[in-house]
Amino acid sequence: MKIPQFLLNFPSMDKKIIVIGGGAAGFFGAITCARAHPGHSVILIEKMRQVLAKVRISGGGRCNVTHSCFDPAQLVRAYPRGGKALLGPFHRFQPRDTIEWFKECGVELKTEADGRMFPVSNSSETIIQCLMQEAEKAGVILMRETEVLGIEPGFTVQLKDQESLHADALLLATGSSKKGYEWAQHLGHTIIPPVPSLFTFNIKDERIEDLSGVSVPHVKVQIEGTDLKQEGPLLITHWGMSGPAILKLSAWGARILHDLNYEATLRVNWAPNQKPDQVRADLQEMRTSRGKKTVWTEILYGLPKNLWKKLIAAAGIKEDRLFAQLSNQELQGLTVQLTDARFPICGKSTNKDEFVTCGGVALNEVNFQTMESKLCPGLYFAGEILDIEGITGGFNFQNAWTTAWIAGNSMLGTSLP
Ligand SMILES: Cc1cc2nc3c(=O)[nH]c(=O)nc-3n(C[C@H](O)[C@H](O)[C@H](O)COP(=O)(O)OP(=O)(O)OC[C@H]3O[C@@H](n4cnc5c(N)ncnc54)[C@H](O)[C@@H]3O)c2cc1C
Repeated sequence: MKIPQFLLNFPSMDKKIIVIGGGAAGFFGAITCARAHPGHSVILIEKMRQVLAKVRISGGGRCNVTHSCFDPAQLVRAYPRGGKALLGPFHRFQPRDTIEWFKECGVELKTEADGRMFPVSNSSETIIQCLMQEAEKAGVILMRETEVLGIEPGFTVQLKDQESLHADALLLATGSSKKGYEWAQHLGHTIIPPVPSLFTFNIKDERIEDLSGVSVPHVKVQIEGTDLKQEGPLLITHWGMSGPAILKLSAWGARILHDLNYEATLRVNWAPNQKPDQVRADLQEMRTSRGKKTVWTEILYGLPKNLWKKLIAAAGIKEDRLFAQLSNQELQGLTVQLTDARFPICGKSTNKDEFVTCGGVALNEVNFQTMESKLCPGLYFAGEILDIEGITGGFNFQNAWTTAWIAGNSMLGTSLP
């Protein structure tokens, strides 16, 4: 997009604020800043024709805007990286404020059983329309299809078509783009190497073969040889395992799993409410009380029937075996399959509903009261460009809303409301 002439001949009294990146953080930061500084110009630059592309595809097209968790101390526990730094910001702008913000703009959010919050319309388009309208109302100058090529301190923003813009303050909201990291580095910042987070595990194993779509509401999972442990629902997929327990494990273990080249042993406890001794005792009890029943048909712990059968087969127990016929060895084998089944992870796959990048601008170089760089005055950061990342459930957008709101209010040196 050609630079509008009025931006080049800018009146000297006005300040120019440039926001780079037309994603969730860029829009929220630009709107907040334009509302806070009506006398100045806020320019939002996006390289693509389509803005808010990730919002559009987020949450399976429904946009999981935030999470119904209103205690900042509890909220920060959903961030494998950046939680500590976000504690202060969440005392200023947290999910309750996000709900209120969207409500004031005419968008109602609803809460699902697991705490995830979506627009009542169940469509990410509602959020996109809202952000677009609010940006226009606030007077944000949106420049699409405008790629930033470089940034020099001061700030000079070099655009693709040889033109450049001067900015009095600059908000970098380029998400996980390589270019954003390069500029931050050029302006003095350390970049924590980016690696993927929120992925599913590739597992090829007889016990889950043909069980794609089967889910277990509560399991405990662990990566052998590490402290990485999580619990929650697990979903068996075509390629291996997914679901909240696995996604949380991938987020907390993003760097360790990357260093292991995504090859590790996953330990699964399918009956996490029972200690292994209790499971063994339960099976022994079945031997006496339901001895004439076949092990295949008497399912314990509410496990899906097909999975139960696979675990029995893995314990070396034949299809027609009665409980009374179970040897001690078979009973022990089944106990292990139920409480400590080991699966080989051999690679990862993308979780289509939500994925993020772990790594980015080092947090100790940013002032979280303002989101301003401690190294380069006038430079601000918001969203995924920072070394912050949350587990799945709306926490990543909340990071974008919170950090962008603080940056937008702090640019040009105004104090926060
Ligand atoms: C499939 C998917 C689903 C998701 N679902 C959810 C969800 O439901 N809930 C949730 O909380 N999180 C979700 N996330 C994560 C969430 O989308 C991100 O955390 C969030 O979008 C980050 O916002 P951002 O503005 O920081 O970065 P982005 O959304 O990545 O925006 C950065 C923008 O900068 C632009 N840009 C980059 N380089 C340049 C340049 N050189 N010049 C100009 N512009 C540039 C990019 O084109 C982009 O538009 C999902 C992610 C994915 C991939």
